[in-house]
Amino acid sequence: MKTASSVPPKKRRRVINRSNKADNSNDNEAPSNNHQPLFPWAKPNRVAEHYSLAELAARGIRTVEGEVQCKRCDARTTLSLDVESKFDALREFIARNVQAMDDRAPEEWKDPALPDCGRCGQRNSLRPVVAAEKERINWVFLLLGQTLGLCTLEQLKHFCAHTNQHRTGAKDRVLYSTYMELCNQLCPGGPFDMAFERRNRARPFA
Ligand SMILES: [Zn+2]
Repeated sequence: MKTASSVPPKKRRRVINRSNKADNSNDNEAPSNNHQPLFPWAKPNRVAEHYSLAELAARGIRTVEGEVQCKRCDARTTLSLDVESKFDALREFIARNVQAMDDRAPEEWKDPALPDCGRCGQRNSLRPVVAAEKERINWVFLLLGQTLGLCTLEQLKHFCAHTNQHRTGAKDRVLYSTYMELCNQLCPGGPFDMAFERRNRARPFA
């Protein structure tokens, strides 16, 4: 009796909630489509959080799909990006350019190159469709295609707010933070960890 009362009720409740969360068999909760992830690569019940590369591989997710629309002929189509090769290319680009970036997105990210349209042949024309509703944005698709720069500042700030980046300022800084945070989600604890990167500023990607 004495032991039980020594724990404040508020604290006890929080501990109980957390243990329920860790347990995936939420049998007591009524099924709700509201909490289903929009994409297989997004974590359920989380906003703007995604599985790591290892978790994606374990789930058999090798490609990430997203909708694109041709700027010229307006044709909409679904584009499939290979997770491993696209992330390798991104990692390589960052390693090569991170020091020159100085916490700001480079031109390649601010004004991204787009795929050519297979239907009308227009080059640099397949623009990812960014969902008007911020909760429905296909972040990993935009990351792997290196097209996050097509998002508005408001959309990028929404992402940063939900991932505790709390980044304010010009779009190139917020865009940089979005790239790094998403890379860190896919490759946790590595060179994309902003805190880690700052501590090791003298020798990033060493
Ligand atoms: Zn076209």
